[in-house]
Order: sequence, then structure tokens, then C-alpha cells
Amino acid sequence: MPRLLSLQISPAYGIVEGMQRTVRVLLRPNSEQASALTATAQQFTAAFNTVCAYGWERREKNGVTLHHQTYRMLKAKFPALVSDLHIQARVKATEAVKSAFLRQRQKRPVSCPRSQACAPRYNVHTFRLDWEARTVRLSTTVGRLLLDFRLPAYASRYTGGKPCTADLVERRGRWWLHVVVEIEAPVVSPTDKVVGVDLGLAQPAVTSHGRFLGKRGWRGIEARTFRLRRALQKKGSKSAKHHLCKLRDKQRRFRRDCDHVLSKQIVQSIPEGGTAVLENLKDIRRRLETRHGAQSRRLHSWSFAQLRSFITYKAEERGVTVAGVDPRHTSQQCSRCGHTARNNRRSRAFFVCRACGFSLHADLNGARNIAAKYRANLGNAGAGGPSVNRPIVGADEFAHHTTYKPPALAGGR
Ligand SMILES: [Zn+2]
Repeated sequence: MPRLLSLQISPAYGIVEGMQRTVRVLLRPNSEQASALTATAQQFTAAFNTVCAYGWERREKNGVTLHHQTYRMLKAKFPALVSDLHIQARVKATEAVKSAFLRQRQKRPVSCPRSQACAPRYNVHTFRLDWEARTVRLSTTVGRLLLDFRLPAYASRYTGGKPCTADLVERRGRWWLHVVVEIEAPVVSPTDKVVGVDLGLAQPAVTSHGRFLGKRGWRGIEARTFRLRRALQKKGSKSAKHHLCKLRDKQRRFRRDCDHVLSKQIVQSIPEGGTAVLENLKDIRRRLETRHGAQSRRLHSWSFAQLRSFITYKAEERGVTVAGVDPRHTSQQCSRCGHTARNNRRSRAFFVCRACGFSLHADLNGARNIAAKYRANLGNAGAGGPSVNRPIVGADEFAHHTTYKPPALAGGR
């Protein structure tokens, strides 16, 4: 049952909004079908490159203009592709040309966009997916093909969702369809429960209501990988390079797993309809560097962007709002009396206030400050209190998810 703690909340929150998720399904084509998929992907890529070259040469980035000027040429060059795939290739090319021109304006190195393998984009006109039968019908160069697919276990909760678009991707000889599905958002009434979350390294996350999340051992594993990578880089032999490559993949998978586990734990610790408050992530790295000194090295490569995106989409499924606050002083302030001083922080693990003598686990103190900061922001904003102001206050990089929602890649756990 939805919680109805604040009955005066904006009625807009009662509306069921769709959420988009990407589900990756493994296609199982026979050899004939596989060659049709290859031909389709190749022609789609060629069409993409054709439009890119055209737009780049003529300094044209308007989609409608590019459509009128290239459509016939594409149809003549690649007659086996259905019209809609031509259009999708042009749409993707338009985006590529636009971003190339943007890079150029920013004086960054750039050349005419060109792709080795541009994933064909399917939509309602070109594909039809049957969750029950585990089949998908795709337009290809040899007409519509009916293909079986395998569904990963994690994706079962998204089955039945409305398929919107799909990208056809080949990876190491296997064909995948990245399907964007629309699922219903949970009907959860927002509450005014606010939980601050302090992200760190020694303890991956601590919440203002006293949960210590993630595993402390992660840092040790990261440190070992770091040392190993250093040693291999020094060696520089062919086999060392090969080993390094494998290690990089392994590290990426490990971090991804950690981010999945941590984001899930964080979101599940927040009551439904509540608000999770994090520090504005782009500033976090800077703060951690000053806080932990020597460990900054490892942090540079372990980006918070992935963790943030995992938290955001998992929160959405639980009706939890994610907000951000300015990270300044959250680790130096006393969460009891508000006294802020550099030397308040006596050691890494423990916070001791010089003014009132209050002492607490340092990250817990930080998490409480984060929550308090968010509440203070709400108070300053006036206009009726927390529940009404939810989408506007805490305006920062997190606020994006209320306006623009890139489809989250649905993960394992
Ligand atoms: Zn104090």
C-alpha cells in the first residue's frame, strides 16, 4: 500500500509515469539468419557513414534537411534496407554530426564521424517482440526474420514491458538486442523522510540513519589490482600487455559488481517515497582526495558516475527521490552543534568536536550533515515545505533525472 503521510502533497505525484529500462537479450540466429544480420548491420553502418560524410562536408546538421538531401541517395545505394532503417541511420548520423560540430566549436580535436559498426536501431515499425514465445521479428536485408532469443534472469521483472526501440549489436560473434522497454513506475506517495548518504572508501557508504553499507574489503582488492597493474605496466612485455588487458576487464567487472551491490543496499535502506541525499558527485572526488590523501590515485579511475546512475534507476523503482547537496564542510562540521573547523576531524575514523566534545564515527557524522544540509535547503526555499518542493529543491546534477531520463541499463541485482 502506498504511504499517505503528507496528504497536502502535489497531486502530480499520484500520476503513474513510465520508466524506461534497457534489457539485453541474446539472439539465437541460425547461420543463414546470422549472415542476414551481418549484412543489415553493414549496410546500416554504411548508410550512417554516408550521411555523416554528407553532413560533415556541407556543414549540415539539421535532421530534416539531411533527410531530404540524402534519403533518395541512401535508397539507391542500399535498396535492401527498409525505409525506416534508412531513417534511423540518418537520425544517428545527425546526432554524430551535431556532436562533432560541438567538439569543433569547443576547439577539441575532431574529424568526420565514421563508424566501423553502427548498431541498427529498430522501432515499432521494424521489430516486434514476443515475451511469451521468446521470439523477435526483425527487418533485415532479406525481409522480416523470426528469431529466438534468450532472456537473462535479471530481466524477467521487465518482461511484459512495452518494447519501444532496440539496437542490434554484434559482440564477439554473438548477436544481442538491446531492447528499451517501458515499465510502470510504482505508485508511491512521497514522504518527508530524508536520509543522508556519505560515500567513502574505507566504508563505501554510511547513511544518516546509521547503516554501514558495502564491504570494507573492496578497498583492499582495489589496492591489490592497482599494484599488479603498476608492476605489469613496468614490465611492458607482450605477455604483460595481454595480462594487463585481462586485468582491466576484470577490474571493470569488479567495480560494476560493487556498484550494483552498493546502490541496491543504499536504495533499499531508504523508506519508500523517501529522499536519498548524496553529495554532488562531481565534487566528491575532490573532497575525498583532501580527506584521504594518498588514496586519491585509485579514486581517479573509479568513477562515481556508474554508482550514481545505478542509484538513480534503482531509486526510481522504489519511488525514492535522489537529491544532491554541496559537499563542502560536510566532514568538518559537528552534526550536533554545527561548529565547523578543520581540526574537528581528529582521525579518519572518528569525529570529535572541539566546541562541544561530541564524538561520532566520522562518516556517520558526515551523513547526518548531508541530510541536515538538504533539510536546510528546503527551509530556505520557502514555498510550502519538503514534499511540494521535491523536484526543484536540491537542484543539481541529480535533478536531471526528473527532466531527462536516459534509459537505464538494467543491471543484475
Ligand atoms: Zn559540536
